[in-house]
Amino acid sequence: MGKYKKVVEPVRVRLKKNDLVEVTTGKEQGKTGKVLKVFREKNQVLIEKVNMIKRHTRPSPTSGQGGIVEKEAPMFVCKVKLICPKCATGTRISMTQTGEGKKARVCLKCKELIDG
Ligand SMILES: [Zn+2]
Repeated sequence: MGKYKKVVEPVRVRLKKNDLVEVTTGKEQGKTGKVLKVFREKNQVLIEKVNMIKRHTRPSPTSGQGGIVEKEAPMFVCKVKLICPKCATGTRISMTQTGEGKKARVCLKCKELIDG
């Protein structure tokens, strides 16, 4: 009882919008991009210029001529890792509490705070 103070959290999305991430598996492996959107309830993220899919659009007054539009498709967060802004390597993230009692993300490689 009370041996470990650290709270074990369920798997959750620790990525945020504008994070730089690297794809670690699949056909997009090695690609990097900026997180455009996070879908927390689905454990998915949308990454700029990664996992592009082609969408066919019909000609319409609003979209113009129609044709094929390339668009990002969401990826599971387990397939990407954050690129630490401090040490510039793909890393895993741990959570910590700052002096003010706020939660902050920590890079497991360089142990630097990622936020702020
Ligand atoms: Zn780091």
